[in-house]
Amino acid sequence: MKQKVYFIPVTTPVDDASACARLRHVIESHRLLDFIAERDMVAIKTHFGEGGKTGHIQPSYLKMLGELVRGKKGSPFLTETQTLYKGNRADAVSHLNHAHAQGYGRENTGMPIIMADGLYGDEEVEVALPGKIYQSVKLASIIVKAGALIMVSHFTGHLAAGFGCALKNMGMGCSSRKGKMNQHSTAKPKIKVKACTRCGLCVQWCPESAITMGEESAVIDSAVCIGCGQCLAVCQFDAVAYNWGATYEQLQKKVTEHAWGVARGKKDKLICFNFLIRMSKDCDCMTSFDPIVPDIGVVISADPVAADAASLDLVENRAGKKLSQLAYDIPYRFQIDYAREIGFGNPDYELLTVS
Ligand code: SF4
Ligand code: SF4
Repeated sequence: MKQKVYFIPVTTPVDDASACARLRHVIESHRLLDFIAERDMVAIKTHFGEGGKTGHIQPSYLKMLGELVRGKKGSPFLTETQTLYKGNRADAVSHLNHAHAQGYGRENTGMPIIMADGLYGDEEVEVALPGKIYQSVKLASIIVKAGALIMVSHFTGHLAAGFGCALKNMGMGCSSRKGKMNQHSTAKPKIKVKACTRCGLCVQWCPESAITMGEESAVIDSAVCIGCGQCLAVCQFDAVAYNWGATYEQLQKKVTEHAWGVARGKKDKLICFNFLIRMSKDCDCMTSFDPIVPDIGVVISADPVAADAASLDLVENRAGKKLSQLAYDIPYRFQIDYAREIGFGNPDYELLTVS
């Protein structure tokens, strides 16, 4: 049986006020939040973006979702987890300050923000899983404890996952620091000595202090490196080499199993909103913004696998190109294909276009 996926198209450039009003109407008329019970603590998981980049989901959409949750007598709150890499989202205090600076304070959303993995990203619950890679995954504790989960995800390209949307937001975004490290640890980078200018940026941003500055170039201690990829992301001189070929598949499968761990604890208590607007080559953790396709709309499903499968198809159909031609030229279907293989969700969907 096919999984139901709702699709609300938008014109480009998106008119957020109009799109938000239409989204609200669809949620109410199709009773999409009826699974929320009185007194449910409802986590609304999103991404607050990076300063300087404007692609992240606007607070007005979150405010609307919070109002609808309160209409069901639930208690909504916004939530996020800390990043592995250093920066203004690496601990709860910095991350909260950042979220407020980005406009996600109560004055704009009507909700408090509760960081899901505590002050340092180490508040976690280990959840059992019949995976092929993991028998258990380490998830942010508030995600596990919340009575219901609303995933609000932004479709973007991604340099290792191929694309990021609901599955990536759940798998990586709902994991504790250890859970994130478990997913990233397959890849270990090397410095290309001739390309390195010794600018020091990778030394500054490495979360594990695994990089020191040598006489000719930066040097990575692979025994300390956790394979998070942050040095690759910050190097402006293409001086960090990753053996991606060996790792795309593993990373995407690991993300999928972590997302499965999240979903298993939220049976009939989960809904995913995928925003296919302001889509860029890189994820919202990056400060660059290279649009890859015009605005498309919002995809909604109770099943993150179906939501992502439909989102990917909509992007490729709209662009008339494969995602590997739009963003990074890497394999990008492992998240969806592997979900099918392990019996997580249903990538076969029925698209219901509502306007
Ligand atoms: S960021 Fe790149 S160029 Fe700068 S020190 Fe690190 S590897 Fe070298
Ligand atoms: S050296 Fe390893 S731990 Fe440090 S930023 Fe690079 S990938 Fe991450």
